[in-house]
Amino acid sequence: MDQKTTFEQASERLRQALPLMARNRVPIVPPNYAVWYEYVAGSNAALSEALDRILSAGEAVDEAATLQLYRQYFDGADASRAEAAQRTVKKLIEALTESVETAGSEVHRYGQSLQDCAAQLSDDMGAEDLRSVVTGLMESTQQMREGNTALQAHLAESRRETERLREELQQVRMEARHDPLTGLANRAGFNDRVRELAADAEAAGQTHSLVMADIDKFKSINDTYGHLFGDKIIKVVAKAFANLTKGKDLAARFGGEEFVVLLPDTSLEDARALAENIRASIERGRVYNPKTGEEIRRVTISLGVTELVAGEAIEATVERADEALYRAKTNGRNRVEVGVPSSALAAAAG
Ligand code: GH3
Ligand code: MG
Ligand code: MG
Repeated sequence: MDQKTTFEQASERLRQALPLMARNRVPIVPPNYAVWYEYVAGSNAALSEALDRILSAGEAVDEAATLQLYRQYFDGADASRAEAAQRTVKKLIEALTESVETAGSEVHRYGQSLQDCAAQLSDDMGAEDLRSVVTGLMESTQQMREGNTALQAHLAESRRETERLREELQQVRMEARHDPLTGLANRAGFNDRVRELAADAEAAGQTHSLVMADIDKFKSINDTYGHLFGDKIIKVVAKAFANLTKGKDLAARFGGEEFVVLLPDTSLEDARALAENIRASIERGRVYNPKTGEEIRRVTISLGVTELVAGEAIEATVERADEALYRAKTNGRNRVEVGVPSSALAAAAG
């Protein structure tokens, strides 16, 4: 190792030499390391040639062979090389200490043992002493590496666990906002969307509408064909709502046999047209008696439509849509009625 070798070069050679030494089962102690360091550095031609000869002959370059090479090519008392080796080891230790001293307690212990190693290094140190310092260093590095591998595995496991929990939570959130019978949003899902709309700055200047719907004479369907058949009818009606709403529109099962549709950026007139489409689509459907296969009376729905008024609580909007729905019922069912907000009426009159 000449003195002009940079720390980075020395580290790189260390990285290259270590696996070669491990493969040949050579203990990582200074004399052995010096041989393999020179070999990967290519700075001792005679040594490299000798080692290449042994390697190409397929012979093991074990501890004995390495020691032989060391004696042959380093002639025992090459003081300047020994010093340079010591300096490199010291630099390595310093750099390692610096890079680990901010980490956790395990790493802190490692940093401590590195410092102990550095303190043991002295200028007049013999090969044996240097050997025991480096051996100690290798041992604590190995411990550190094992601890680090366990830590990495633990972190990866935690990451997987967190990801699984996140997905589960998302699933629970989703289920809490959906109706299991129809797959439509439920009341909580509807309320969520209303809040989102209220918070949407872009939506603030737009007209939004609301449709309330209720199955006509549903009690008699239940009473005649049973509650389970009633459930099937609710599913069929829900499908029509799902099919005829898209994009930002939200169809929800408001409860029992009642449905609600929130229509962002939709005028009262367009909402009324959509409500009419849904009504007609359900009226067109054919329903058959599950036991006899005979067609039973048409299933129809009544609907009330209104528009959202800026600053008004959603309960007031729902109530106005409900009043329109009630009118649709009293006016003969299977029809759409519009509930115009009084503010809109006042504006029209003024
Ligand atoms: P109207 O045309 O005036 O709406 O008549 P209706 O019989 O539909 O009115 P009402 O609200 O009195 O009856 C609704 C019935 O819906 C009562 C209840 O037993 C039934 N119902 C509510 N939820 C469910 C459900 O999840 N499944 C079934 N099968 N029936 C339900
Ligand atoms: Mg009802
Ligand atoms: Mg009903």
